[in-house]
Amino acid sequence: MFFIFGWNHTKITEYGAVQEEKCQNCHNTDIWQLKKISRYFTLFFIPVFPHDSENLYHCPICNYGLKLEHEEFEDYKAIAEVNTNCLDKKITEEERSNRLDEIHRKMQQRNESRNSKNRQDSKKWETLAAEKSDAELQTILAQKSEQYNPAFIIAAKTELDKRKS
Ligand SMILES: [Zn+2]
Repeated sequence: MFFIFGWNHTKITEYGAVQEEKCQNCHNTDIWQLKKISRYFTLFFIPVFPHDSENLYHCPICNYGLKLEHEEFEDYKAIAEVNTNCLDKKITEEERSNRLDEIHRKMQQRNESRNSKNRQDSKKWETLAAEKSDAELQTILAQKSEQYNPAFIIAAKTELDKRKS
């Protein structure tokens, strides 16, 4: 009994057009595309299961792109689906614009809740830095910065600057 197996089968799923972006690489403004690249474990050359995947949002001209996290990818996929359905005349232009508004609203809400969490976190580090003496803060910055959360180090520097001025 023997098995022939491999890891290298690649499957590309195209989700289509998302929205217009200006490319940082080739400087063209065009409609960026969404795709998923999945790498499969194969057995006797037959793809069995995906072991790795990347969600890419990219420029159609030079292929420069961004890797998307799961939540962002789901939003962009929803936008691409709405666009494809409209091109295929499954939905009207008006339905397309309503659905896109809804998706953008959802994306904005998520950004806001993420930002407010970041603000709360930085407030926590600021409070912690404010409780320490000048000498303690200087020692931390000079000798122990790698033992602390980078966000605390930023807060510690800001706190010291504030006290100096
Ligand atoms: Zn480009």
